[in-house]
Amino acid sequence: MSAIVETPRFPISDKYRQSCQGELDVLRDALQRGLSGTSEVVEHYEADLAAWFDSQNAIAVSSGGAAISVALAAAGVGAGDEVALTPTSPLCTVYPVIAAGAVPVFVDTREHGFGMSLEDLSRVHNAKLKAIIDIPMWGYPTEVDELQACARERGYTLILDLAHAHGSTLHGKHLSHYGDISCFSTHERKPLATGEGGFLLSDRQDLADRARSYSRFGNLNGRDFGLNYKLAALPAALGQHRLRYLQEQIDARRRNAEFLLSRIHHPKVREKKQIDGGETNYYSLNLQLFFRNNRSFIDYLEVNGIPSDIKRYGCKCLYKFPAVAAYQRDCPNGDALLRGMTTIPVHPNVTEDELFYIASIVNDYNGD
Ligand SMILES: *Cc1c(COP(=O)(O)O)cnc(C)c1O
Repeated sequence: MSAIVETPRFPISDKYRQSCQGELDVLRDALQRGLSGTSEVVEHYEADLAAWFDSQNAIAVSSGGAAISVALAAAGVGAGDEVALTPTSPLCTVYPVIAAGAVPVFVDTREHGFGMSLEDLSRVHNAKLKAIIDIPMWGYPTEVDELQACARERGYTLILDLAHAHGSTLHGKHLSHYGDISCFSTHERKPLATGEGGFLLSDRQDLADRARSYSRFGNLNGRDFGLNYKLAALPAALGQHRLRYLQEQIDARRRNAEFLLSRIHHPKVREKKQIDGGETNYYSLNLQLFFRNNRSFIDYLEVNGIPSDIKRYGCKCLYKFPAVAAYQRDCPNGDALLRGMTTIPVHPNVTEDELFYIASIVNDYNGD
């Protein structure tokens, strides 16, 4: 073992939690104003989100899951319609599809990353397929430009689940730029954190209008159906404030990832490939593993206090979970991707000492 390794510093369970200067003042101020989802506080948050992401419309909602339900409703997805998605996403992405009465159709990823394979998408093309959801896991950009072209050609609505990907870009543009409608979570573990919360972005006015209406009970006009997915004013105030620090935090993640990667020398570990023109926000550093038994390596990291999302969430293709097994459609690329990787925390609260520690633990592994 290397000399600098002493006691494991991870997991420090609350370490990912953000706090930004001035938060209490902002919340105190918000308490003086309307607290509901129709408060001007929420409108101001939405305006700032639209500006930050360079989007025509932002609609705040109560969670990332709510954002997906709202996007599906806005896209007109209903009972019996099919929705294609990659099986490497979390259960959070597929449950809203099932709740909408639609049929999730699993389409494999690419070999090198979590983007949907166009080739496999062609195999499931049919008149019932209304929408496709692409999910850039852990913030690594996917080929959303190619999916956009394909969706336009075939008349699908392209929904992007960007719950991990605030600030990730492709060819210098936010990933949301390529989707018809994009969904974000601001759950406290996500790069922008309000506790619970989410939002949608869209440059398509028709989709944005329907999303806004649907998430606000159809504005109770008695004509347009909807449900209540509004975000309350207090988390909106927090989100608006924290948005000002988001770029700084992404820059810190990128510095941490670079620092770590320059110190990891294990021959069987390397960063997962980033696609040409893509820049990840490093929600989590993704390491590709080439051990005979990758799971043992992940267990070793955990024993040494370094957590992995793969272990935390038991990541496997969704159709392997009982609640989704009815929709099984084998996706060998996605399966191999999840078996062949781990995540490493590089959030802004990870210290330089901890990065040294992580690198030395990785480099010292001598299992096969
Ligand atoms: C977190 C997450 C969601 C769900 O977001 P909530 O705010 O927890 O409802 C959906 N999709 C992905 C990819 C997520 O990571």
